[in-house]
Amino acid sequence: MSYAPSIVRCPLCQGLSQAGSLPVRRDVSMRWWTDGWIGPSPREGPLVRCAVCGIVNPRGRFEDLSPLQCRSRIYRVMLTHGGDHRVELMRLVRKWSGGSPVEVRAALDSLPCFVAQEIGEEDLGRLRAELEALGAAYRVEIREEEPSTLREWFQAPPQAEVLDDVETLRQFLASADGVERRDEINLRVHIYHAANHPYRWWGGAWGEGEPYGEGLPWVLLGEREAWQRENVKRLEELLDPEDRESRLLLAEMARQSSHFAAALALLEPVLHDESYPFVEDLAELARQGISEVQVLAVTTATAED
Ligand SMILES: [Zn+2]
Repeated sequence: MSYAPSIVRCPLCQGLSQAGSLPVRRDVSMRWWTDGWIGPSPREGPLVRCAVCGIVNPRGRFEDLSPLQCRSRIYRVMLTHGGDHRVELMRLVRKWSGGSPVEVRAALDSLPCFVAQEIGEEDLGRLRAELEALGAAYRVEIREEEPSTLREWFQAPPQAEVLDDVETLRQFLASADGVERRDEINLRVHIYHAANHPYRWWGGAWGEGEPYGEGLPWVLLGEREAWQRENVKRLEELLDPEDRESRLLLAEMARQSSHFAAALALLEPVLHDESYPFVEDLAELARQGISEVQVLAVTTATAED
């Protein structure tokens, strides 16, 4: 399994750090659990300590530069050999370059010449197909829309500390003033998932297969330690049942508390909505009075190589 670094920009000092990583291979097998945890996953801790200024902030407050790079990448295409369809090629080069007939003719007489100077990924695909249909040879060069950002990206900034242990997250929640609702939910969901880890089994059904964590016998949420009960209670206050993910999580927390009727009531309105995967499985567990955290499905990630 190999990973590409994820580069983030600190909200305070604007410094760049590497934080966690993105899977880049196809052979990553993931298990989808009833509580919404998908694992094993690369470390995407909810808190990040900036490698430049050392201040800890929720990950969501860091600007992720990886998608920015994909969006900002632009290309230019240089024609190196014209092929046998000169009239069609002239038309093509005029269309893409915006040059006059005289300019295009002169350019084609003294190859190489630019066909397009600033095009995005989609246009590049179209242009390549058109050139190849005419048997023309070309070269693609990457131009930088934001050269400084790209340069920084390739200079591999220092590694930030990704914080995901429950104790640190709880301390952060207790000490930070005015944590935004979205950030608090992220942190508390992470704590909730981590608190379920000791009870996870790789097998499809409770008690079968290998333990993921410590393989402990299941304990209902309401019978857990105080900090876990408080975390779940606070999540129930924060989560909005109108939100899809939140509704499933609320139903799952009800089921894991053996409040099966409440879980079914939450799932009922979305039972036949295909955009909610696994909702029927979750409802079936509630109908059978099963409260344990379980694996719902095993998938193989289809991330790009
Ligand atoms: Zn910083």
